[in-house]
Amino acid sequence: MSRLKHLFFLTAMAGIIVSCDGLKMTKNIFETSERAKYERSFSGADSLMAQWKSGFTAAASSKLKITDGTSLTIAPPGNEVLHAAGYSLELKKGDLLVIEAVTATPESKIFTDILEENTDTDKPESGLLKNNRFTRFTENSGWHKIIIQPEIGYRGTLELKIYTQPSLAFPVAGKANRDVQSFWGASRDGGGRSHEGVDIFASLGTPVVAVTDGFVTRTGNQGLGGKQVWLRDGVLGNSYYYAHLDSVMTTDGKQVKTGDTLGRVGNTGNAAGGPTHLHFGIYTAGGAVDPYPYIRKREAPAFKNGSKNISGQSIKSGTTLRTGPGSQYDAVIKAERKTSVKVLAAIGSWCHVRIPDGTEGFVSAERIQQ
Ligand SMILES: [Zn+2]
Repeated sequence: MSRLKHLFFLTAMAGIIVSCDGLKMTKNIFETSERAKYERSFSGADSLMAQWKSGFTAAASSKLKITDGTSLTIAPPGNEVLHAAGYSLELKKGDLLVIEAVTATPESKIFTDILEENTDTDKPESGLLKNNRFTRFTENSGWHKIIIQPEIGYRGTLELKIYTQPSLAFPVAGKANRDVQSFWGASRDGGGRSHEGVDIFASLGTPVVAVTDGFVTRTGNQGLGGKQVWLRDGVLGNSYYYAHLDSVMTTDGKQVKTGDTLGRVGNTGNAAGGPTHLHFGIYTAGGAVDPYPYIRKREAPAFKNGSKNISGQSIKSGTTLRTGPGSQYDAVIKAERKTSVKVLAAIGSWCHVRIPDGTEGFVSAERIQQ
């Protein structure tokens, strides 16, 4: 290689290296997460931002658990800057995660970060409650770390509800969970195949309805499913399968809205002669999935003002700190003597506390004293 060519080659290589680095930097500079935007625009003292970030880091490393339908109160003792709360919640694909807040001051920014614990990523998805509400579709079943942190300078209590709702409408009009009597994975044909959906029992002629806005990709009368409708949604790209219908009341290609009638419950196909029911299936790009979490109806919890439990300076000797708000949870540590605590949050009659060595856990409120 001539010297000139060699030089050119090196320059070109350097160019490639620079542009790779450049891409990485671009990604960081234009990081669009709500948290990153806030950190960039914050004009207060650096020490406040550092404190805010360390509060987040502590919450992100929390090992504490909550269950679906938790009502929680966060309030710091005294006048301290409010800390961040981080809890793990087990979710199923199809659950719609809902976080709601009542803030001490209106229009306070409340950040929420979600980290899927069964994935390699250590970067949470960062969002902001809008009108004190945040929702997120659960794409992957498993434990999710939920971190909630108010903006810098927030004072007073923060009431929260963390719960799930179905992400789709129920597919049979007037029916509910108790009418689902055959579940995902049940054995079929003597174990030759497994049930790729749920069966919802209803009397002959009960309307079956669109679970989401979308369009009808196919209708027909064939095979095991008998009279059937295939609905496709425009957002997730899933296909929804309605089978054993007595009659089809829609047409191929039709645009439908959630709740529109698609047909009537029957026992066509391989359900012939049996009780009338809807077989409902969901097919994603990755194949069939359990429809039940998508449609299971559930109550939202009420806000429970737990402020009265957020007081106290110490725990009695012999108090066990647990990984969750209840005596059924594992012990984190047992305090052999009276130990001073910071009460960080309350869930009903259980308090989330931190002891001087930094260990956190839940204790029953009656174990706390002044
Ligand atoms: Zn079925």
